[in-house]
Amino acid sequence: MNAELLRQYLEFYQDLGIKTLYKQPASARPAVVPEQPVITPEMPKISEPLPPMAPANDSLLQILNDMGDCRRCRLHEGRTNLVFGVGNEKSPLVFVGEGPGQDEDAQGIPFVGRAGQLLTQMIEGTAKKEGIDLQRSDVYICNVVKCRPPGNRTPEPDEMEICGQFLFRQLSVIQPKAICALGGTAARALTGHKEGVTKMRGRWFKWRDIPVMVTYHPSYLLRAYNQEAKREAWTDLKKLLHFVYD
Ligand code: URA
Repeated sequence: MNAELLRQYLEFYQDLGIKTLYKQPASARPAVVPEQPVITPEMPKISEPLPPMAPANDSLLQILNDMGDCRRCRLHEGRTNLVFGVGNEKSPLVFVGEGPGQDEDAQGIPFVGRAGQLLTQMIEGTAKKEGIDLQRSDVYICNVVKCRPPGNRTPEPDEMEICGQFLFRQLSVIQPKAICALGGTAARALTGHKEGVTKMRGRWFKWRDIPVMVTYHPSYLLRAYNQEAKREAWTDLKKLLHFVYD
């Protein structure tokens, strides 16, 4: 790789908000690498090849192909299925969760467990009440990380950064009118803000030029003592749906 190509790579990742890059160890590299990239002290090392820059005519299928049998981070070790995304690829609205749980891992589809059922009710119930003709299948749903974290733990920053590049490509291809960040992990991945979700919910942020509404994760709302949070989430969703569909 020459210096100009490396510069382009770095600019591309900077645009995506990715701060940590990883360098493949010499032993795992193909024999015919003509030159080594210049690694500066700001570029910590990891063990996987640089993924390709987003191609000019990127598509969800291309992204899925590029992910392949992804082993770029440790989360692949426990996965049954990679959970890419589901729904209308031309939707003006994308919901982004944290990462697959047990049901999602088993089926390869995001938000199909209890939290998913609540998300469906929230989308369809709020839309109906507000006189908006909208089914879950009309929107696009995906997660920050595509493989289930062990025991449903929160994804680690390096896992979010590695997998985040694929989320960002999904969003770049879909170009929705708005994005809904479900919970703190999605909110942090999309906005870079470190505040808690309680402070961020109900407010508009931006991912690139696309408005992002932050609200509570449905799993949090499933806890019985969260009646007030449920009301707040419904308020957030109403705001979001009117913004997108009015
Ligand atoms: N929680 C998430 O964040 N995503 C899913 O797909 C399921 C549960």
